[in-house]
Amino acid sequence: MRFFRPLLLAKLFYPDAVFRIRTSEKILYLTFDDGPDPGSTPLILEILEQKNAKAVFFCNGKAAEAYPALVGTIRKQGHMVGNHCYDHLNGWRTSNDRYCNEVDRASVFTSDRIFRPPYGRMKQQQYRLLRRKYKIFMWDLMSYDYDRNFGAQRTLNAVKSKMRPGSVIVFHDKPSSSSFLMLRDFLEFSAARGYRFDIPAF
Ligand SMILES: [Zn+2]
Repeated sequence: MRFFRPLLLAKLFYPDAVFRIRTSEKILYLTFDDGPDPGSTPLILEILEQKNAKAVFFCNGKAAEAYPALVGTIRKQGHMVGNHCYDHLNGWRTSNDRYCNEVDRASVFTSDRIFRPPYGRMKQQQYRLLRRKYKIFMWDLMSYDYDRNFGAQRTLNAVKSKMRPGSVIVFHDKPSSSSFLMLRDFLEFSAARGYRFDIPAF
């Protein structure tokens, strides 16, 4: 079973986290996780540029350290870089000290302001420690673009039918993602319905 919206429990566990941005305007907040990747991030950037869309890239610290020029290009094109931990740790399986250290380690190469936990998983204590330093950024709509069994067409249909004003939508800029196949269509569809694509003001 796929959950496109976060479970209510997540909102109770992480009460100060951002799931959806309150607005009456037709604005969508696109996010791309797990990059930067030299084989896929430039393609995503090109599509976003063509469609005049801004996004947040929640970068893997290790990859950001390896490809600083790519992180620079993301920023130069007006997008925001977020922190997605150094090496994609699952908070539930990691000690609090190690987890928080790895997020701080990634902040040098990504962001010291905005953090998205890999898999959306943090223990309560990790959340409490990290929220003092970072705005914790979850999502309103998971696209499942990383799931090969789901496929690009179903990803496209899902985001089209479930997006709403202020939605924070998760995509991925990694080679296995189907976002390359459906992103252009999705941006055109949304723009035709009056939506624009912005970055949050944090
Ligand atoms: Zn991730």
